[in-house]
Amino acid sequence: MTHPTLDTEHRQVTLRIGGEKRTSASGGWFAHINPCTGTTDAEIPLAGPEEVDEAVQAAHRAFESWRSTSPAERRGILMRFADLIDEHGEDFKQLAALDNGTPIGLGDGFVGMSVEWTRYYAGWADKINGDVTSSLRTHGDFSYTLKQPYGVIGVIITWNGPLFSLAMKVPAALAAGNTVVIKPSELTPFSADLYAQLATEAGIPDGVINVVPGSAEAGAALVAHPLVKKVTFTGGPATARKILALCAEHIKPAVMELGGKSANIVFADADLDLACGLGTIMSVGVMSGQGCAMPTRMIVAREVYDEVVSRVADLAKMVKVGDPLQADTLSGPVVNYAALQRITGIIERAQRDGARLVAGGKRLGGELANGYFLEPTVFADVDPLCELAQQEVFGPVLSIIPFDTEQEAVAIANNTEYGLSGYIFTNDLKRAHRVSEALNTGEVLINGAANLAVNRPFGGIGISGMGKEGGREGLDEFLRIKGVAIA
Ligand code: NAD
Repeated sequence: MTHPTLDTEHRQVTLRIGGEKRTSASGGWFAHINPCTGTTDAEIPLAGPEEVDEAVQAAHRAFESWRSTSPAERRGILMRFADLIDEHGEDFKQLAALDNGTPIGLGDGFVGMSVEWTRYYAGWADKINGDVTSSLRTHGDFSYTLKQPYGVIGVIITWNGPLFSLAMKVPAALAAGNTVVIKPSELTPFSADLYAQLATEAGIPDGVINVVPGSAEAGAALVAHPLVKKVTFTGGPATARKILALCAEHIKPAVMELGGKSANIVFADADLDLACGLGTIMSVGVMSGQGCAMPTRMIVAREVYDEVVSRVADLAKMVKVGDPLQADTLSGPVVNYAALQRITGIIERAQRDGARLVAGGKRLGGELANGYFLEPTVFADVDPLCELAQQEVFGPVLSIIPFDTEQEAVAIANNTEYGLSGYIFTNDLKRAHRVSEALNTGEVLINGAANLAVNRPFGGIGISGMGKEGGREGLDEFLRIKGVAIA
């Protein structure tokens, strides 16, 4: 097996503060472990509060000039940035494999989406306008709204989409005239490093994008910094609670893109080829199940239940798990040993809770034995209230649950604290609309509609978070509205 290594063309990760590169920092060093081999492949310098402060100061200094840059110029710079990301697609694919074992076969999709999101928000840069809210003749005052950037935005992301998570946040923030300090996950620093380098090459002025790889301490320092005017976070609910508590102290707004336990309701009239194919690949194949919006609870009509269970189990066994550098690999390792332990623990307890294991369930051995590879795992007859059905696994594990009526399907789907995505497979159009309305989620995807389309706002409710990314709403998250009236 070939492993992603650092000896290709990838260099040492640096901090980027006001255009300056730093190869060491006060937060110490993080040993980056290659999840394919279980061995350390790089030492990453970690920012401490000191460098976070410097980065925020740099972003603050750059703000007035960036917000005053003409919208057309901002658009042009962001378009160049998108072109450069596109041109460096192969590098980003290699870096994602290095970061967290993302198969290069999936890389085109992630790079393409990142380019698309960057171009889309570049296009918004010169279309930001307020409204006239009253006129002199009818109200006595002439009033209008101004949409203005916040200033410095603190961007904290997790490890599962190291490039795409940035593309979902940074172009929108910059198009609106803000500057950013990015804290990537310490687990996946490589993609953000190239991202910062290309930002400079694109002509984004020094200080507009700053990158400080760091741990929780650096993240907390960023959130609490008085010059950070808004936080945008992607990660888990436990961390979100800590960040929100800090935001509460400073009365600071935040966008929270958190986890999910998304239901995938398969009705008896569905196209079962499509429902089983996508339902399997999107839960236990792609990203080794480490995606927030994945359909991890398949809720299936009793009439087709046995057939669906059998088809999904067969499909899961066909998912190619292994070397991320081989083009036909669909599923790489999980991100680290802690994740492997956590997921195998959930699998063991699910069996004790009475769920029926129909595919997978084990760590892979042979030449994959040193990496963190898991078999795509499918459980049938899952109790909708057990841990497996209620907790986000963030690994390649699918629960299948039967239902008898539409009402029951909706009740099972809604019986979770999460509320990110909902999936429906049916050929009954009225039912599709009715169930879409009834699901307590931030989005509903019917019959295989793709998620994360740039022009459709994405973001959950409940413990899946608050705020949106994508669409005009994703831009508005980075704009303050000011009312102005003249007598
Ligand atoms: P996490 O919450 O542990 O970490 C996310 C980021 O927060 C990391 O950069 C981490 O260093 C930082 N952090 C940790 N403690 C902090 C603190 N006290 N203050 C400030 N920053 C801190 O997330 P994770 O477990 O690594 O990621 C998995 C979670 O992310 C899952 O729940 C998943 O569903 C979610 N996720 C959500 C989306 C979405 O868009 N909704 C996308 C991807 C992942």
